[in-house]
Amino acid sequence: MYCPKCGTKNDDNAFRCVSCGEIIQPMPTRPPFISADDNQAMRMLIPIDRSGLAIAAGYLGLVSIVVVFAPIALLLGILAIRDIKKHPEKHGMGRAVFGVVMGGIFTVFLLVYIIVIIAVSISGR
Ligand SMILES: [Zn+2]
Repeated sequence: MYCPKCGTKNDDNAFRCVSCGEIIQPMPTRPPFISADDNQAMRMLIPIDRSGLAIAAGYLGLVSIVVVFAPIALLLGILAIRDIKKHPEKHGMGRAVFGVVMGGIFTVFLLVYIIVIIAVSISGR
């Protein structure tokens, strides 16, 4: 890098210019963990990198008791897990797994219910 004051070429990590002593890097030893802390704080305030699919899967998992929503929760949960695995910076794996588990359980109930209805209607004929 070059000194903004005298134009002397300096080492990229130089704090002061070797020629004129001008400070050319105001924060030369900024610890890298500060930015990580900033990200952590941001993440707590705004869930910017939380997978939207995971949130949807979580909510649908909650309403899977109404079995109509169960297959949708299962599907969104699977999509969310794939999405989070593809983008490790995204969060919400807990919600996604919850959606898959709840959706899976109640999808089985739904399938059993449909099979029973079909069986009853066939035997009733
Ligand atoms: Zn200089």
